[in-house]
Amino acid sequence: MKVGVAKETAPGERRVALVPEVLGKLTAAGLDVLVERGAGAGAAIPDEAFADAGATIVSTVDLYGQSDVVLRVQKPSESEVSVLHPGQTVVGLLQPLLDPPLMQSLAKAGVTAISLDAIPRTLSRAQTMDALSSQANVGGYKAVLIAANAYPRYFPLLTTAAGTAKPANVLILGIGVAGLQAIGTAKRLGAVVHAYDVRPETREQAESLGAKFVKLKTQIDATGAGGYARELTAEERAAQQAELNEAIGGMDVVITTAQVPGRKPPVLVTAAAVEKMKPGSIIVDMAASALGGNCELSKVGETVDTPNGVTIIAPENLPTSMPAGASAFYARNISSLLLGMVKDGSLNLDFEDEVTRATVITRDGHVVSEPVAKLLKPGGAA
Ligand code: NAD
Repeated sequence: MKVGVAKETAPGERRVALVPEVLGKLTAAGLDVLVERGAGAGAAIPDEAFADAGATIVSTVDLYGQSDVVLRVQKPSESEVSVLHPGQTVVGLLQPLLDPPLMQSLAKAGVTAISLDAIPRTLSRAQTMDALSSQANVGGYKAVLIAANAYPRYFPLLTTAAGTAKPANVLILGIGVAGLQAIGTAKRLGAVVHAYDVRPETREQAESLGAKFVKLKTQIDATGAGGYARELTAEERAAQQAELNEAIGGMDVVITTAQVPGRKPPVLVTAAAVEKMKPGSIIVDMAASALGGNCELSKVGETVDTPNGVTIIAPENLPTSMPAGASAFYARNISSLLLGMVKDGSLNLDFEDEVTRATVITRDGHVVSEPVAKLLKPGGAA
């Protein structure tokens, strides 16, 4: 079976789905690896490094013409879908719930689509395949570096002959995978770290990394299914907001990571809260997307300077800003998923397997993922 590694074409995307260090695992399983010329360039991996690890470097036409399975990071564009052919398989972070029509196009093209963002994350066997976690980890780290870079003072306590610098007070909102990495990174830079989440179990996790958990007088337990948070009710939101506004006002840096699956990210930092922040304060909104962000004033992909001197940064795709590190983790995730589906050198999809059932989105001309098929029914996208 030929496994092709595509060159990413999404604007600004510098990651690559496979790295030479992981390639040997695929060849050891009897797979031939083709790499599209220049696929690793954005992640500082030259074609020769892939060739030395046993890959064949091919043109775009040959990659799509010859591969049985195409590995990628982001979903294919409509024009890339048009060059895929029946019987081919594409594996990546396809975002099937955000773009069901693309899944329908892949089904119509006779392509089997397998999406890494659909793995059951609480299954311990699937942890090595959890690309959402590996990439959120990169994001949490980079968000702190961006904040520290933009902050006009020191993060650590510093005593020098020229005076003493107070440590920065950093608040992390949302203590999932990205939030935990952000706490660790901000601590290592010497900041005083505070953290808050609506899932009470996160308190111990935050404290174990040295953060002070922000305890609100209003008790909210928004633990949802699968370890995720549920959406808050209007009353809970109002109570949370009033208390959070007070906490935010005293912070120098706020990093937000809060998400609710399938919903718009909750607004945790309102325009009124931003107004109460000191000049020179920084907000990095990791949750910002076209759907909105955790900060009411965020503009995705942009930096906003408010009249009271607060800088709000809403980066679009943080993992791609550390392409080599992010690709190395991603390559382990995608190869682990693929190898779990390979038997005697060929793809063998066993729908008795929980990971296969969850991640295969299209097959034999149909959208077979129930949640995606539901969204494609008339009225399903509501
Ligand atoms: P996420 O990106 O969906 O959300 C980030 C955080 O935002 C979550 O901790 C969530 O509780 C929080 N949040 C949502 N609404 C909020 C609000 N109104 N106010 C404050 N915080 C709010 O989360 P994630 O990083 O993908 O992780 C979600 C869960 O999955 C976690 O419990 C994590 O431990 C779990 N997980 C488990 C495994 C595993 O078991 N192998 C692997 C990965 C993640």
